[in-house]
Amino acid sequence: MSKATTYIILLVLFGALFSCTVSKPLEADLVITNANIVDVQEGKVLPNKTIIIKDGTIQEIIGTDTKATYKTASTIDAAGKYVIPGLWDNHVHLRGGPALEEENKNLLPLYIANGITTVRDAGGDLYPSIRAWRKQIEAGNIAGPHIISAGPKLDGPNPTWEGSIEVPTVAEVPAALDSLQKLDVDFVKIYDSTISGDVFLAIVKEAEKRGMQVSGHMPFTIKLGDAIDLGLDATEHLYYAFKAGSAKEDSITQAIVASQATAKPIGFYDALHMLYDTYDPQVAARTFNLMAEKNTAVVPTLYISSVLNNLKYEDHSQDAYLPYIGEGIIKTYERRISSAKRQPEASVQFMRDLNAKFHTMVPPMQKAGVTILAGSDAGAYNSYVYPGQSLHKELEMLVEAGLTPAQALRTATINGARFLNRAQNYGTVEAGKAADLVLLDKNPLEAISNTQRIQTVIFGGKVYTHQDLQQLLEQVKRK
Ligand SMILES: [Zn+2]
Repeated sequence: MSKATTYIILLVLFGALFSCTVSKPLEADLVITNANIVDVQEGKVLPNKTIIIKDGTIQEIIGTDTKATYKTASTIDAAGKYVIPGLWDNHVHLRGGPALEEENKNLLPLYIANGITTVRDAGGDLYPSIRAWRKQIEAGNIAGPHIISAGPKLDGPNPTWEGSIEVPTVAEVPAALDSLQKLDVDFVKIYDSTISGDVFLAIVKEAEKRGMQVSGHMPFTIKLGDAIDLGLDATEHLYYAFKAGSAKEDSITQAIVASQATAKPIGFYDALHMLYDTYDPQVAARTFNLMAEKNTAVVPTLYISSVLNNLKYEDHSQDAYLPYIGEGIIKTYERRISSAKRQPEASVQFMRDLNAKFHTMVPPMQKAGVTILAGSDAGAYNSYVYPGQSLHKELEMLVEAGLTPAQALRTATINGARFLNRAQNYGTVEAGKAADLVLLDKNPLEAISNTQRIQTVIFGGKVYTHQDLQQLLEQVKRK
């Protein structure tokens, strides 16, 4: 070996040794020190962590045992605070037509102000605007969450909701999905105001074939198990899993189908009564096992049910959140309010009993391993279910129903990220993931209501201090 070669080898060896012991300082845009990170997957707190953020991403998380150093322009001392991943509201609506476009846009900061950094828009009539807002949000020009959107809903002829794509027959299913693919929507949402069972199942089958995620409301003329077998990815609300928990699901479904051609078809609420009387937790458990096995998620939306069930009696005029909702959207609340006012006492009571039954479904679903997704159903027409605030209420209800705070927290973080195939970048506080974070004053694992004790929200590395969050609210407040 020549002298020169030996020298080079030594230099390389020395270099390697040197880089091991005294590593270069990490370059950061933002560093959060003394953080208590809430590990949502394990349901525990990791104390004394330093979170290194660069280019909107968590570069590294270091503990007190590592010697890594960093250079940063900005630091947040999170001593005594709890850091959770940015929250996901897995069922919201941006809708109401062109006249309510601006008011819908004004709802977006409400999500950020409430620590919600991602929403799943479950269909509506504002998709072109949603795409434009999404661009502005991702470019950092307006405050709002990442939006994952179904675009227009699919439904039958003359559907309830404006802007839905009508799919009258099975033959028209491919064209409907073609148009959704052309719009580049994130998933397919089916609504059941007039859609036939055949068309519903055909959509699920075709969406599965095309690799499109599909979820929905489902006509009672078909069985959830059949939709699951064809590849249904999520069932919105609990009505459909509830139906599949009836010991008489087959005969009730047949009776509903047979009644369709008669002068007195069995309506949705009549069917609910039949199902309620025959709901059997053991049958339901089999359904939940199937959902877990086939990866069919559920969005229980417990909170909106309780709000709507109380609509007839509750005075919302002094709600703290009402001033943040535009006049036009408040007008849309009338539809549900007037229908609630017409509801006879007995049917209000029944809906309350039903909601109580829905609550009993949550723990066995969790136990079976069903992916539960927290969703508020906030949006125009859904009276007094305020964007942002309502997700926290949903989390409280999931805990009331029997989830632990950690399990509830997962329904609004990692579960949604996984369900929507974004867990690589979202859903936990880990190196390599987006710096979408919420700093809380108190530990949410001790009481889920602590998700409301928001001190700071970080969206893709952009910091919203408590004061900034107040300002976001102030900006959209009605004068
Ligand atoms: Zn909805």
